[in-house]
Amino acid sequence: MPIALSVKTTHRIDMIDITSSVQKEVSNTGIQDGICAVYVPHTTAGITINEGADPDVCEDIMAKLSELVPSRRGYRHTEGNADSHIKASLMGNSLSVLVENGRLVLGTWQKIFFCEFDGPRSRKVYVKVIC
Ligand code: ZN
Repeated sequence: MPIALSVKTTHRIDMIDITSSVQKEVSNTGIQDGICAVYVPHTTAGITINEGADPDVCEDIMAKLSELVPSRRGYRHTEGNADSHIKASLMGNSLSVLVENGRLVLGTWQKIFFCEFDGPRSRKVYVKVIC
């Protein structure tokens, strides 16, 4: 079974840096070299890697997604979260990150972000390191 990280979100739309939690699970496996699969088992949340140094980058991403996919716009899916499903598909629901010497191989400014599009909720992120 994969490791399941718990992520609590506090807004309808949010991007949460989970890099240190993913790294902790990689370290716990003891695996030095491989690939870390990070998978979001939800239909209204996603995952992405982007800049973690300037929080305005995530603010811009969320603002632009909301502009492109407004929350109320005559969608056929009538649960009130049609935009959340679309945003989740735009971001994608999985990542693969290389692991070398027990560390996630990320660029200087890169962080792994859980993307909430229908919060606040309790979410899960599956992590599995393959060597
Ligand atoms: Zn729905």
